[in-house]
Amino acid sequence: MDTIFVVNAGSSSVKFQIFSIEGEGRLRRQIKGQMDGIGRRPRLRASGVEGEPLADRAYPIESVSDVPAAMSVVGGWLRNEIRVSPIAVGHRVVHGGPDFSEPVLIDHGVVARLERFVALAPLHQPHNLAPIRSLLANFPKLPQVACFDTAFHRTHDAVSDYYAIPYQLYAEGVRRYGFHGLSYEYVAKTLAHIAPEIAKGLVIVAHLGSGASMCALKGGRSVESTMGFTALDGLPMGTRPGQLDPGVVLYLISELKMSASDVQKFLYGDCGLKGLSGVSNDMRELEASEDKRAKLAVEYFVHRICLNAGMLAAALQGLDAFVFTAGIGENSTGIRARVADQLGWLGVTLDPTANSRHARLISGSDSLVPVYVIPTDEELMIAQHTLALLMGAPTSSARQERVP
Ligand code: ADP
Repeated sequence: MDTIFVVNAGSSSVKFQIFSIEGEGRLRRQIKGQMDGIGRRPRLRASGVEGEPLADRAYPIESVSDVPAAMSVVGGWLRNEIRVSPIAVGHRVVHGGPDFSEPVLIDHGVVARLERFVALAPLHQPHNLAPIRSLLANFPKLPQVACFDTAFHRTHDAVSDYYAIPYQLYAEGVRRYGFHGLSYEYVAKTLAHIAPEIAKGLVIVAHLGSGASMCALKGGRSVESTMGFTALDGLPMGTRPGQLDPGVVLYLISELKMSASDVQKFLYGDCGLKGLSGVSNDMRELEASEDKRAKLAVEYFVHRICLNAGMLAAALQGLDAFVFTAGIGENSTGIRARVADQLGWLGVTLDPTANSRHARLISGSDSLVPVYVIPTDEELMIAQHTLALLMGAPTSSARQERVP
């Protein structure tokens, strides 16, 4: 069985999936797993097609001290215990910078170009590149593909791509990139499948997870995003504030004497739903809480989604559909109901039964704007891109070397 290995590496975890390549290039998810607690309390967990457990085991810190070590343990487990040797690896890479508007087959030159974007995403890019580098060193003929969170938004017009700052900074790469692109691409493709006429029109997608953003799609292409230079902008998130007056950052530095790294930790880890509620960064806990600040955090989240919906509808000059996706968007009937209620001025109504059943179409029959719930699948998107590039690449070399 030919398989593709999808890798999403972070600072302390490596998430992975294995897809088998079926007839006519169809892909089927076979294994889903992750190595957590790298360098602290490493633990490998994995499950199969039906969710059946395949592994749940702890490792000593010394044997999984960093991401390359985690990759080698996961690769060894796949090869020796599960008897799977993928023919290619697809990686999630957060930043493709200004250059990469589509996935790319990796070689040393590509890695060198991607290293230049470490400064643009210091918390993610180095960890995304670590497994690429170690596989390139150990298995130079194994095809690897980089799939970018930024690529889907490279279709933006200049007015959506610039900040009103001196041009030199734009030339250096300070631009409104936008993120969650693999999720939006998947949703756009799925919508084209389930509602082809609507997908040709003006659509807002709300990716509401621990990280959250919204995207305006025109004919399936991204024309605006709520995220910008980094994944800090736009909607409030689990621990990130979303849109913030830069003057707040100046205040943190000048009055509270915070260093650049203090500010970074603060903005990525202490703000958002967590900071505002003082209760949790987890929407389930906030929705269940009676605490006043937890209620405010939920209200703020909904308020900012609806403000941004207005902005994106203005960018689109209309609205033909609204789509919810990611952890909160796919699961929280309460957040969906509140957002739909506040979008009533756009002609949105909700069918409460369809919403509580998590149906695909949850708008009322009288809604001027259909509202969909489309579960996202960024890993499948990565596997599809990897397979597409592989089919365009010489398959003989693809089959020469297999992952450890
Ligand atoms: P990420 O992939 O960015 O880590 P997810 O897309 O998995 O995030 O979303 C995580 C968020 O989804 C968390 O805030 C979690 O509370 C929320 N979530 C998951 N299930 C539910 C639910 N049933 N109701 C409300 N929120 C939920």
